[in-house]
Amino acid sequence: MTVTKKNLNKAGKPVSYDTDLSHEELIAIIDGMQDTFYRTDSDGWLKYISKSVERLLGFKPEELLGTKLSDLYVEPDGREKFLVAFQEAEGDIEGYEAPLHDKNGQIVWVSTNAHFYRGLDGEIQGVEGTTRDVTTRIMQQQELNRLKSTLDKTLDCVFMFEPETLNFFYVNEGAIKQVGYSAEELLQMTPYDIKPAYSEAQFRKLLQSLTDGRNTTLTFETIHRHKQGHEVPVEIFLQYIKPENESPRFVAIVRDLSERLEVQEKLRHLAHHDSLTNLPNRLLFMDRLEHALTRYREEGQVAILFLDLDRFKVINDTLGHASGDKVLQMLGERINACIRKEDTLARLSGDEFAIILEDVFSSEVVMTVARHVLDELVNPFVVEGHELFITTSIGISMSPDDGEDSLTLLKNADIAMYRAKDLGRNTYQFFSPDMSTKAFERLSLETSLRYALEREQFMLVYQPQVDIETGKIIGVEALLRWQHPDLGIVGPSDFIPILEETGLIVPVGEWLLYKACTQAKAWQKKYDTDLRIAVNLSARQFNDVGLVSIVDYCLVRTKLPAQNLELEITESVIMQDKKRIGSAFQAFEDMGVRIAIDDFGTGYSSLSYLKRFPIDTIKVDRSFIRDVTTDSDDAAIVSAIIAMAKSLKLDIVAEGVETNEQMEFVTVKGCSAMQGYLFSEPLTPENMDKLLAKHR
Ligand code: C2E
Ligand code: MG
Ligand code: MG
Repeated sequence: MTVTKKNLNKAGKPVSYDTDLSHEELIAIIDGMQDTFYRTDSDGWLKYISKSVERLLGFKPEELLGTKLSDLYVEPDGREKFLVAFQEAEGDIEGYEAPLHDKNGQIVWVSTNAHFYRGLDGEIQGVEGTTRDVTTRIMQQQELNRLKSTLDKTLDCVFMFEPETLNFFYVNEGAIKQVGYSAEELLQMTPYDIKPAYSEAQFRKLLQSLTDGRNTTLTFETIHRHKQGHEVPVEIFLQYIKPENESPRFVAIVRDLSERLEVQEKLRHLAHHDSLTNLPNRLLFMDRLEHALTRYREEGQVAILFLDLDRFKVINDTLGHASGDKVLQMLGERINACIRKEDTLARLSGDEFAIILEDVFSSEVVMTVARHVLDELVNPFVVEGHELFITTSIGISMSPDDGEDSLTLLKNADIAMYRAKDLGRNTYQFFSPDMSTKAFERLSLETSLRYALEREQFMLVYQPQVDIETGKIIGVEALLRWQHPDLGIVGPSDFIPILEETGLIVPVGEWLLYKACTQAKAWQKKYDTDLRIAVNLSARQFNDVGLVSIVDYCLVRTKLPAQNLELEITESVIMQDKKRIGSAFQAFEDMGVRIAIDDFGTGYSSLSYLKRFPIDTIKVDRSFIRDVTTDSDDAAIVSAIIAMAKSLKLDIVAEGVETNEQMEFVTVKGCSAMQGYLFSEPLTPENMDKLLAKHR
């Protein structure tokens, strides 16, 4: 068999080589080959195998002759699988890979090229082929696959790229997800294709510091651009590695920072905003104020509106904090609608809000905003079916006249706000320097109140309650007065709120309860009457666990019969913590002490408590009585209250009766008792004594 091939060599000269070899020569060549040559008969019995099988599997050729190839496969159906693949390849297979056992039972991966060999008649006589050891490559491949699947599973994104072309040659699942391109697309791209912040030149410069060894790794934050166009903030950990036997490469491990930045942003937001209303808090408010003051130092003015809601506590106390919170949220939204985007509305605390108006040129502008806010609150807030009317008092200060720094401005706006409250609330006031003096007065009032009890500056006055028909004095209400050394007699509305805020109401309340009981007992004895004494309790006193025992103590010590003591409370007390109030009420009922609802009709309470709690008396609030003869609404309200009290078999006292017409009105409606200037103003103990003597 002579085959001559004509070819041209590199120099263009024709070359030819001869394949006319003898059998021995061929065997010698085959035995010398790295690859192992083998031949089987049509049943798979090995007929011939070249010497290199010893290197491949450790067997000498003669040890294998007469065995079946299938005995060598690791997998029991190894031979069957081979035949299937062989048939599919139409009897000519290349690179078929399978694991075999070597003589020691170790696994050797081989790659086989094989084909049928036929006799002269064309009949298939068996299979012959060459096979070689590919264990190392397969192991590497498996190791690589393992690594790759680990990489694919990491949350981090891995990009590898060539140092020369900068082409990506490996990206993991995470990387694909992060930038939104398919693996195929990415393999056509380079890092600067997805990094809008870098040009190719800049990027190469960056890499240079790694390749020239100035840095071993680089960590930096940048932006990746997603296929869809949006930006992804990322942190990159970049390394230049030179694996053995392989070309050097860059490996970038990329972490998506969106979530972390979001959390950071959220934390920042939380630290600077009020969680209930989502408005800026005091911290952010002061920060913005300082910035504004710097910005408008030279020209323009900054104004602060300090808002304090009027009697917001009543809503919290009567409807509960959840409703109060709702109102604050709605309120925030409404007020926000009154200002420009560049202005700031903040919630400073509980029911205090403040507005910064930047770059204002006249007080008229500020006035307009204040008016706007007040108007915005005219419509009621509807919370859980209740219509709530909220007003606010606004104090205004403007830089630089009312202060050049943030603290002074805020303090003066606060002072102006108090002035607005004094003026009857639901109004605004600009700060003026003489207000500081008034604020100072309040402060000194607070200080001197702390000493008032030990300096015996408190006293009680008594206002009689009379039976309208008989004119008989059925009871007296004890009302607190403060004899201030400089200011003279101070009325309770000026200092009771301060006593409540400071907690002083508890010792003062204890003192006056004892005083009132003692006085009542003395009058009972002296005039042989069944006189009742009414004592006001504020909500704050119910927070004190000792209240019940104090009442008990006073009754025992003064020997005043319990049914002659009536505790006056407002609806706001009832709506407090119902459980605690309930148990206090129960204790009072057990003792036989009476309970009156004071200022009835002014709270936001539901009336169900009238049945639930042991209530004896309803005192119709003075504000309804005042206009009862001129205002048909008030007339209707008073009629309804009296009718309801009667049907619940409760006693009724009309408060603040000043005229005969008012007295007649309530009498006709069925109210039998009254308290008011018509009969008598509150009297000092001496004067009350005289009145009692006269009425005996
Ligand atoms: P109140 O309990 O509703 O007391 C009735 C108030 O109405 C008293 O004012 C009384 O002087 C006033 N008044 C009575 N009749 C008339 C009238 O015909 N016309 C007008 N215009 N006013 C009338 P006062 O003494 O200034 O007390 C105001 C409020 O201060 C009381 O309202 C009560 O809520 C509170 N208070 C007074 N003393 C105490 C106390 O010892 N403890 C507590 N916790 N609160 C008290
Ligand atoms: Mg009262
Ligand atoms: Mg009252």
